[in-house]
Amino acid sequence: MTAALSASKHGAAVTVLEAAPRVGRKILASGNGRCNLANLGAMRYNGDTALAESVLGVCPVGQVLAFFHGLGLMTVEEAGRRVYPACGQAAAVLDVLRLALDQQGVAVVCDAPVTRLEKTKAGFRIYTSQKTYEARAVVAACGGMAGGKLGHDGGAYRLLTGLGHTLVSPRPALTALVTEKKAVKGLSGLRLPARLTICDGTKPIEAAQGEALFTDYGVSGVCAMQLSRKAGEMLGSGKRPMLYLDFSSMLGLVPRVYDRVDANDPFANVPLLLACLKERQHNLPKEALLTGLAPRLLAERLKGLPLPEMAKALAAFPAPVIGVRGMENAQVTAGGIRGSEFDSRTMQSRKCPGLFAAGEMLDVDGDCGGYNLQFAFASGLIAGESAARSIRNA
Ligand SMILES: Cc1cc2nc3c(=O)[nH]c(=O)nc-3n(C[C@H](O)[C@H](O)[C@H](O)COP(=O)(O)OP(=O)(O)OC[C@H]3O[C@@H](n4cnc5c(N)ncnc54)[C@H](O)[C@@H]3O)c2cc1C
Repeated sequence: MTAALSASKHGAAVTVLEAAPRVGRKILASGNGRCNLANLGAMRYNGDTALAESVLGVCPVGQVLAFFHGLGLMTVEEAGRRVYPACGQAAAVLDVLRLALDQQGVAVVCDAPVTRLEKTKAGFRIYTSQKTYEARAVVAACGGMAGGKLGHDGGAYRLLTGLGHTLVSPRPALTALVTEKKAVKGLSGLRLPARLTICDGTKPIEAAQGEALFTDYGVSGVCAMQLSRKAGEMLGSGKRPMLYLDFSSMLGLVPRVYDRVDANDPFANVPLLLACLKERQHNLPKEALLTGLAPRLLAERLKGLPLPEMAKALAAFPAPVIGVRGMENAQVTAGGIRGSEFDSRTMQSRKCPGLFAAGEMLDVDGDCGGYNLQFAFASGLIAGESAARSIRNA
């Protein structure tokens, strides 16, 4: 949609072909219905980080926000430098985009999955199940496979591999961690502030802090999702990642942070917890040592343990990771069409002139925090403008 608006603003006659019955369904689902549309902090991208940095150098976050403010969207900055619509509604983001498409006379055809893209002398022939279109330039912005029905089934990549592009194997990213069942037994439904560290044995590899959500299959929540990419990589290379959860922040013993944090010794806070429990022992009976400190489900699970074991379970709760949830539950796709095959200044294909690409379809994925939509919006704005220019200059 940003590509369409930008191309139309720069003089192109634009048609949006959308496979689904309506445009922008992922926007509505994003940020728990609030749409975290950008991030004002440092860039946090994976995959083709050079492309991400270059794109956001050409179209920085200020420009993305200026674009949305120009469409009438009011935004606010929240913790972690995350930007949301001020009204707290993802629908507001989609509404301003759709209104602008309408006002700028962009044709939007829904229920029109593109099944084939063919290079012709004059440009491209675009096949949908019902109709064939001719265009002088094409912006491919089909997103990724994440999010179940909100994503595509991989077919969209073939539109570009058919024109000579390479597919970097798509994998789920920003998804929940699947752990050994017995590790999370009895804790399902529990939401706790925690610091999560993924370890190779006891060697810390990556850490994130925030709200962990226990489920019947493992651990979810933003901090767990941040670690899923690394956990997936480790599992893919035959390693058995170990997750340690440190609940010290829940106990008010260390500050609460909602972000990626340095991966330090996962057992570092065990002495702190032990001292805290010993202190409580002066005033409380042993069976009530965790009352008022930890939620009931966790207290039940740990009661009866010797004090050092209890401290260890509160500061380095172990959960062996056996998998990550699939595309259905992921928020973004790692992998996609190889980004380096596109010129980041224009988003034009180096292999097929007149073809442009944007967004999650490419081999770029961001952390939680607005990075994915920001990249999609920014690369779309660049691609649309360059596509219009390429038509004008032809
Ligand atoms: C539950 C959830 C929550 C999320 N929350 C956030 C968040 O808060 N912040 C953030 O930055 N990111 C978030 N993301 C990720 C973000 O939504 C995506 O990275 C972003 O929408 C990608 O934009 P895009 O335009 O590249 O692709 P999409 O938004 O997926 O749009 C691509 C469009 O192309 C259509 N399409 C696919 N194939 C074809 C075809 N062959 N022909 C025609 N049309 C086709 C699709 O139907 C879709 O409408 C979330 C994702 C999910 C699933």
